[in-house]
Amino acid sequence: MENKAVINKIIPFSNVDGPGNRVAIFFQGCNANCIYCHNHETINMCTTCLICVKKCPVGAITFINGKVNYDEKKCIECDTCIKICPNSSSPRTKEYTVEELFEIIQEYKLFISGITVSGGEATLRADFITELFKKVKTLGLTSFVDTNGFFNKNHLSNLIQVTDKFMVDIKAVSQIKTLCRSSLENNLENLKYLLKLDKVYEVRTVIIEEYMDIENTINVVSNILKDYPEVIYKLIRVHSSGLSQKQKQLMEKHIPSKEYVKELAGKVQKIGVKKVEYIL
Ligand code: SF4
Ligand code: SF4
Repeated sequence: MENKAVINKIIPFSNVDGPGNRVAIFFQGCNANCIYCHNHETINMCTTCLICVKKCPVGAITFINGKVNYDEKKCIECDTCIKICPNSSSPRTKEYTVEELFEIIQEYKLFISGITVSGGEATLRADFITELFKKVKTLGLTSFVDTNGFFNKNHLSNLIQVTDKFMVDIKAVSQIKTLCRSSLENNLENLKYLLKLDKVYEVRTVIIEEYMDIENTINVVSNILKDYPEVIYKLIRVHSSGLSQKQKQLMEKHIPSKEYVKELAGKVQKIGVKKVEYIL
């Protein structure tokens, strides 16, 4: 059977997913469930509960031959299906083979620096992405992986070999279970491993109060990154736009002040990290 992956969306020209203009490909499925996830519709595979089929105002979602089908031409992009899905999924996904994605990338090759795979958690489809990256290399483009840091590095050696750089989230150091509702905890070990291989472009921490050990996380990550002057450390102030109603209610009281995030960036710089950025 042909190797296929479920893709949530493809952004042909992204300038926030690594250096330059990039084709960003978002894989469906994640191994975490962070309380502030801004792509919550990418977390799980569709369970064909059919709730969205009944609620789509224009009949763009149908159930045929045991599968949920999505008609892009009918869709008015109201996002009702994403808002009401009880499973953090989306009917607006599509299955692609490596060859099909490669054809899309080829269309843009003259206008981009490379591609970035994201999600969901892209490393869950390491085999598929390794195949894709090998083909992308033949176009002279770079290949980046955006990851939540929760992966088993022993299963990723082929992918790491063909990846130019990783963009790694360090979401927390000691409160991962509370924040990511996941028992995974090897993110720091993975970051150190990728740094030693010179495979890291950027590390990111989203700042949210109470749900994470902010000062401890910043300290630990900065003390690792101070020895890697080329690597960016980006602090992101959590925000509530684009979140589900439930997420918004959960988070509203935990958004830090802009001043506090700037103060944290100053601390990171003082520890010795050369490239510090923040998003307020
Ligand atoms: S976003 Fe599109 S598919 Fe989803 S409910 Fe709205 S019209 Fe239907
Ligand atoms: S996308 Fe969500 S609401 Fe729609 S059928 Fe799948 S699981 Fe149900």
